[in-house]
Amino acid sequence: MSLSIYNTMTRAKEAFTPQVEGKVGMYVCGVTVYDLSHIGHARVYVAFDAAYRYLQHLGYDVTYVRNFTDVDDKIIKRAQERDEDPIALAARYIDEFYVDMDALGCLRPEVEPKVSTHIVEIIAMIENIIANGHGYVVDGDVYFDIDSFGEYGKLSKRSLDDMRAGERVAVDDRKKNPFDFALWKSAKPGEPTWESPWGAGRPGWHIECSAMSEKHLGMGFDIHAGGKDLIFPHHENEVAQSEAACGVKPFVHYWMHNGFVNVDAEKMSKSLGNFFTIRDVRSVYHPQAIRFFLLSTHYRAPINYTERNLEEASHRVYYLYQTLLDAAQIMEASGPLDDGPMADGAVVSALPGKWQAAMDDDFNTALVTGIVSEPLKVLNDLMFGKKAKKKPGRLTTMAGLLEALQPLLWVMGVGTGDPGEVLAEMRAMALARRAITEADVQAAIEERVEARANKDWAKADEVRDALLTKGVQLMDGPTGTTWRPVYEADDV
Ligand SMILES: [Zn+2]
Repeated sequence: MSLSIYNTMTRAKEAFTPQVEGKVGMYVCGVTVYDLSHIGHARVYVAFDAAYRYLQHLGYDVTYVRNFTDVDDKIIKRAQERDEDPIALAARYIDEFYVDMDALGCLRPEVEPKVSTHIVEIIAMIENIIANGHGYVVDGDVYFDIDSFGEYGKLSKRSLDDMRAGERVAVDDRKKNPFDFALWKSAKPGEPTWESPWGAGRPGWHIECSAMSEKHLGMGFDIHAGGKDLIFPHHENEVAQSEAACGVKPFVHYWMHNGFVNVDAEKMSKSLGNFFTIRDVRSVYHPQAIRFFLLSTHYRAPINYTERNLEEASHRVYYLYQTLLDAAQIMEASGPLDDGPMADGAVVSALPGKWQAAMDDDFNTALVTGIVSEPLKVLNDLMFGKKAKKKPGRLTTMAGLLEALQPLLWVMGVGTGDPGEVLAEMRAMALARRAITEADVQAAIEERVEARANKDWAKADEVRDALLTKGVQLMDGPTGTTWRPVYEADDV
């Protein structure tokens, strides 16, 4: 098997062959930093972080570039409302973005260019576009002449006729075609501006990604990714700009786009009031659970954000960490691994091929979230199953499974934290969601211990069941009674 990627340009899965053997250049459109990032952003960057990790796992030397749009209409508007310098406001939200991305386990890209530090490259590219006959200047503004670029629409599969029929565009007499888009905008009062051959002004939105990807990856690089909403017009315009400026075709070899996040099966939007920032969601669910949830649907499909789905993801991540913690403790307490050949050797040897086949198929993390269940079940059977302790090769099998799980967990970016710490954090968040305190649980445990000491089994069961209906399951073990969160009473 080898990696195949669904390419939006050809609408087909294609075998992945990098332009330079052993190396991959990957560009993902970043955020416009004027506010906290939302769960839709989390999806984009978690999805492509998993792809980035898998490419590294395959041995590629990956250069991952993700930009920050720090010069933009929305930033300027927000800064004016707050009487703040727009670049300073953007810098603040860049810091906030890192806080969320780090929590979600997204590795930092190799290069994170900003518009404000790439004005020279942007101006040079616009000059090339004009020199090649694809751009024109009107009163200090520069527009891309889409009628001069015959292939305009090739990524989004829209013809100019469709666009004219389907969209209402404000009439602007200064443009040759209403769909011509701005490469450079002339200076307006209160906006950040830079000098240019066309007078003071600032770049349009689309040109930055063309200029920054060329600078850091060169023309004709491997992968360009982003949300589906960017296919048109942003990525369509990038294709036009880059290819018009440099004449290198294609400027990108594989276009990847992720699907939307719906909330309770509806489109997420501020006007519907179902809009969640990553910060909102992180205050309720552990970032490891959020990440697992986001990877549990294939990146191209729409994903449905619901409390139930987040609870279920929390439950599965809790089980993963509990298994890892239990296994680590048992392995640590055990002697050398000389208990014979592996008891479930086939599960161990099949694991790498299984999950890598899923990832090779257009980064199917959804399948991997299912594949991880079997090794976890085998580990638990080996640890706690009825004759497990007498099973020959028990420890050797456990060690083999744990080792085989490592690269899978690293690529998924889940199960890589300290198990004891993550479990404690998840328990605290689960209690908060259930509106009960650790003290409530301890009081119930003591009440039940007392009932059992008095042989009042009915009372003991009543205490246990009352907690269970609140999503807290008590478990009796050699070290006394412990508890774990469950996401529905009927789940146990
Ligand atoms: Zn972009």
